[in-house]
Amino acid sequence: MVRAIVGANWGDEGKGKITDMLAQDSDIIIRFQGGSNAGHTIINDYGKFALHLLPSGVFYQHTTSIIGNGVALNIPYLLKEIQDLESKGVPEPKILVSDRAQVLMPYHMELDAYEEERLAGKSFGSTKSGIAPFYSDKYAKIGIQVSELFDEEILRDKVRNICALKNVMLEHLYHKPLLKEDELMAQLASYRDMVAPYVCDVSAYLHEALKEGKRILLEGQLGSLKDPDHGIYPMVTSSSTLAAYGAIGAGIPPYEINNITVVVKAYSSAVGAGAFTSEIFGDEAEELRRRGGDGGEYGATTGRPRRVGWFDAVATRYGCRIQGATEVALTVLDVLGYLDEIPMCVGYEIDGQVTRDFPVTPKLNRAKPVWKIMPGWKTDIRGIRNYEELPEACRNYIEAIEAEIGVPVTMVSNGPGRKDIIRRK
Ligand code: GDP
Repeated sequence: MVRAIVGANWGDEGKGKITDMLAQDSDIIIRFQGGSNAGHTIINDYGKFALHLLPSGVFYQHTTSIIGNGVALNIPYLLKEIQDLESKGVPEPKILVSDRAQVLMPYHMELDAYEEERLAGKSFGSTKSGIAPFYSDKYAKIGIQVSELFDEEILRDKVRNICALKNVMLEHLYHKPLLKEDELMAQLASYRDMVAPYVCDVSAYLHEALKEGKRILLEGQLGSLKDPDHGIYPMVTSSSTLAAYGAIGAGIPPYEINNITVVVKAYSSAVGAGAFTSEIFGDEAEELRRRGGDGGEYGATTGRPRRVGWFDAVATRYGCRIQGATEVALTVLDVLGYLDEIPMCVGYEIDGQVTRDFPVTPKLNRAKPVWKIMPGWKTDIRGIRNYEELPEACRNYIEAIEAEIGVPVTMVSNGPGRKDIIRRK
């Protein structure tokens, strides 16, 4: 049984919390795309953690945590994250890294930063974690696979070619220090030693696990609208954020994914640039940002203030459809308890026409929100465990979202902790 946990929006929907919670009843948790550019915030008995590379299941002793082949693997970062867990008293987790994952190199991060600098005001708002240069290299076939770290000859040839190509850009476009073959070889040797204890033929491992009936979670990063194909291109990330990609990024058959739990946030937030139709500004935004998430809407990786807005039914319906949602977990609902009235974006006005369909980017850039106003519930709903005990206005809000997106909301998260969850029958 494989369940994917993915985001419907721009990321930061609270996938980490839902994964951490569902990991309790799972055997294996896998990261299948992305890198250390976004973080999951998890609060449990050991404390508060911002995980960037490790899957959110690492806190349980009965689970195996896997970095799949689709991930941008920053090896020193992985080791740092493992050490951080140890230092906070988390029992040593079982971690496997796919031998087909590729290695994110320091030059990917440098090139990311140089490109942002070059683009200046027109930048993509990259986290400078090297993700775009990493995936570009992967598909240009000059990436370095974990398996290749163990073959000096392959590596030497590759590094020579990488230096030849990158140094042209470094010298003539960016005017920055050049790459040196021997330094890269030494760096790769140290990476090999760091990662060696974890390397595994992950897809073979999962093939056996599936035969044994193990319960597997695929943990997505970011959300539908950041997908390079189906998102708000070009303001997207560089690997697919969709559940379908879970099959590729983990190495399992697509038909094994039989549950797609899509995490939807009760309001909107986004980091980085790009169209954000239901965005709000000024004092209204500042208040939501301050009260949002757990301790405010500030990026887990960068600390940047997140852009915030009201719930966007157009974007979320699309986000759920493109993920293939079988069920929805609605998160951070507790945050909205301060509002008299809650606006919800139920349509986009584009060139004088109102639509409920999420458009391609050139049209999206011209979209204006059409609001519907819902009554607020004006109470703190944290601590409630039964759906029926939620105030009526709160249930109406949830059910209005459910009607808009057309997918059952089976879980409602009303606080950042593991136990802050209402399961609906
Ligand atoms: P992810 O990348 O999708 O895992 O999302 P993040 O972890 O970056 O952002 C979600 C933030 O909201 C974190 O700070 C969580 O602790 C917090 N959070 C998750 N669910 C809830 C919830 O139901 N209520 C509140 N108040 N905070 C939540």
